[in-house]
Amino acid sequence: MPPDPTAAVRPEPSVSVANAIGLLSGRYGPFNHEPRLDPAHETVFTILSQHTSDTNSSRAFRRLIDRFGTLEAVAQGDVGDIEEAISPGGLARIKAPRIKQVLSLMLELNGSLDLSFLREMPLQDAKAWLRQLPGIGPKSAGIILSFALGRPAMAIDTHIYRVCQRLGLIGAKVTADKAHDLLEAAVAPEQVFQFHLSFITHGRQVCKAQRPKCGECVVAAGCPSRDCFIEKEGGPGPAVSFGADGHGRSGARAPHSLPAEGIKT
Ligand code: SF4
Repeated sequence: MPPDPTAAVRPEPSVSVANAIGLLSGRYGPFNHEPRLDPAHETVFTILSQHTSDTNSSRAFRRLIDRFGTLEAVAQGDVGDIEEAISPGGLARIKAPRIKQVLSLMLELNGSLDLSFLREMPLQDAKAWLRQLPGIGPKSAGIILSFALGRPAMAIDTHIYRVCQRLGLIGAKVTADKAHDLLEAAVAPEQVFQFHLSFITHGRQVCKAQRPKCGECVVAAGCPSRDCFIEKEGGPGPAVSFGADGHGRSGARAPHSLPAEGIKT
């Protein structure tokens, strides 16, 4: 995920992380945590979700379980059969061997696919355990720990990353990987789940990559990027263009600069 170039010309944000969570949860929530899958199934689902839509990944997951019955059977299965089962999810030639590899390694490391021990591990150790699995980075580890086990682990996807940059909650040079650590330190553990779902919903529905709907945004009053986007729609101010990544680009006023790194709490 490239850093948002508008961040370099943003004023300081006037909304804190906690306030933004409150406002966005009020708009889109409430979000109640109910584990949807156990950690091993969530891991497979997460791999299937990479670079595809929820609809496609759900269909691929259902087909995989229908075909093999259990994840133990998937681990023993033929890669070609796995590939055929998950074909509606896209990138099946990459994901099929990865799923088999991940499940096999889980069995080798743990002796079973019961990963409930991750619930009791210190959070950083639990993340490290998952990240030793091929294809599991900080975002996937965060999703597995958060959604399957209710642990306060960050999972920063492209929508959350974009909203945080536009709100000035992370600086321009903060990578997505680094954003996980910064935001995890800044968000109260009991609010991580609310943060994830409220920010991702906001990014999908309102603060879109292309043409964010700032006029409908409940955190607009505290957003240092709002003027850039509203000016694009015809108001006074600097000329702003939209890049292919959907971020506004302004070549004019630079009221204040945000720190290159760090987070506003
Ligand atoms: S004001 Fe616009 S840019 Fe800022 S968070 Fe809201 S939708 Fe996104």
